[in-house]
Amino acid sequence: MVEEVQRVFVPSVTEEDGGTIGLGCFSSEKVAWEVLRTFLKRSEEMLLTSSSVVVWDIDRIGQEAMTVLATMDCKDCPVCSRRTFWVDLEHFSALCHGSACSAWIEENTIDPEIIDCGWPTIRFLKQTKSIEEAVKELYKLGDRLKAAGVTEQVSGSAEQMMKDHFQQSED
Ligand SMILES: [Zn+2]
Repeated sequence: MVEEVQRVFVPSVTEEDGGTIGLGCFSSEKVAWEVLRTFLKRSEEMLLTSSSVVVWDIDRIGQEAMTVLATMDCKDCPVCSRRTFWVDLEHFSALCHGSACSAWIEENTIDPEIIDCGWPTIRFLKQTKSIEEAVKELYKLGDRLKAAGVTEQVSGSAEQMMKDHFQQSED
């Protein structure tokens, strides 16, 4: 017997010109998120402003059938400057989906007063007191990269260059 679907999860993204792209309709929240995250990896190829995952209850009329699970805004990444930095203001987290970047901001799991931020490429990790401060820290990092001549594409060799640069300046 097939289990009856009671609700569906719908991920979507909105483009800068206001158009919305539906990414499908799923019976599992997990799959909906996977589809959205996979799509966001390509977000540097287009101009997106926001994304969301919405739940729809089946066979219900009107607005109450819909619940917004999460919305994320797309910003320019403080580190790599590409429009691939996805910010979830409700859950205080942000992550750059641009290739080879993954700069992030997250509420500390133990102390919610602390906001962590980081950049895995050089294992950069910093604790701050606010999102604004965390964004500033990442911008500082981005500025240092630009000063070191690392721009645009973060390729393998650029990655090595950055590592060298940061090792030098940390001594
Ligand atoms: Zn980035």
